Amino acid sequence: MAEKRDYYEVLGVPRTASQEEIKKAYRKQARKYHPDVNPGDPTAEEKFKEVNEAYEVLSDSQKKAQYDQFGHAAFDASAFGGQGGADFGGFGGNFGFDIFGDIFDMFSGRQGRSQRTGPERGADLQYDLDITLEEAATGIEREIEVFREEKCNTCDGSGAAPGTSPSTCSSCGGTGELRQERTTPFGRMVNVTTCVRCGGRGKVILEPCKDCGGSGHKRRARRILVRVPAGVDTGARLRLAGEGGLGVRGGPPGDLYVFITIRPHKVFERQGDNLFTQVKINMTQAALGTETDVPILGGTAKLTIPPGTQSGTHFRLRGKGMPLLRGHGRGDLLVRVIVSIPKRLTPKQRELLKELAETFGDDVRDDDDKGFFKKMRDALGK
Ligand SMILES: [Zn+2]
Ligand SMILES: [Zn+2]
Repeated sequence: MAEKRDYYEVLGVPRTASQEEIKKAYRKQARKYHPDVNPGDPTAEEKFKEVNEAYEVLSDSQKKAQYDQFGHAAFDASAFGGQGGADFGGFGGNFGFDIFGDIFDMFSGRQGRSQRTGPERGADLQYDLDITLEEAATGIEREIEVFREEKCNTCDGSGAAPGTSPSTCSSCGGTGELRQERTTPFGRMVNVTTCVRCGGRGKVILEPCKDCGGSGHKRRARRILVRVPAGVDTGARLRLAGEGGLGVRGGPPGDLYVFITIRPHKVFERQGDNLFTQVKINMTQAALGTETDVPILGGTAKLTIPPGTQSGTHFRLRGKGMPLLRGHGRGDLLVRVIVSIPKRLTPKQRELLKELAETFGDDVRDDDDKGFFKKMRDALGK
């Protein structure tokens, strides 16, 4: 064992420090090195013991006087049983618990403690689900596979090896709490603290289940049926209550959230409940009017194009969009008509077009733009 540090040095106070200062310094140090704040850190645990030991002496006027006079030698054969403070070993000693009570008051009272040992809700899980636009339009049921913490079947969640069961904690007698009474200069005080050995559960597992290592739960792949309602859009979040991770210490399970993404579609673009698409017609169809097939979800529909339709015109097919997620009815399908100018002509078509062209001359018969072209011709002096 390394040479014992000076108690004043351990607490970081001068030898002239008052009781109030010693207490303050102790609280600060104990908070810093408390095992709950530094789980699994043996250095912190050592420091915590050291701090407690220093405070035990310096907070007691009689022991302090002895220590001031003789140093550590004052207690070599008395208070600590000549074992250099070994009586403090672990936090199972009465002294340790007393300190615990003190520190929990400092943190947040008993509530803080119960949060750490009481039931805890299981973890929420997230799953990203890609679906097609058609699937979004009809709604689907999809089986997904999630990995989550589930109750261990081998021990049925108890954590104890099959054939054994958790036994009553001998430190607290199964209450999960430790009470300690002590007489202080301020009167009698009762400290109630959570049992460290069993963590407040009142039971300890002596022979842990080999399958789950005593935790009582296991990570497992699970297939879950997800019902995706018709009309969902990218960004929709479906909540499957209770399908998340297993709760801790009897807490409820978490939820599973399924985030929906709609894959891009070859033909349709979606905006809210409406769909957009486009069709091409040739110039004579545009000029004379026609009826053409347009794609709709799950098939085609006839669209009547009136004579004189301009390229870029939109037509609305009511009720051919996406179903409304909430309520009845559907959005619309907006069809943009593109007038295609032929790139190659047969000799006959060419002949006919020439003939047609002569009837037009250089007149651009566009009723909408009449004013514009007239103005342009006037400007050019024609
Ligand atoms: Zn198990
Ligand atoms: Zn216990």
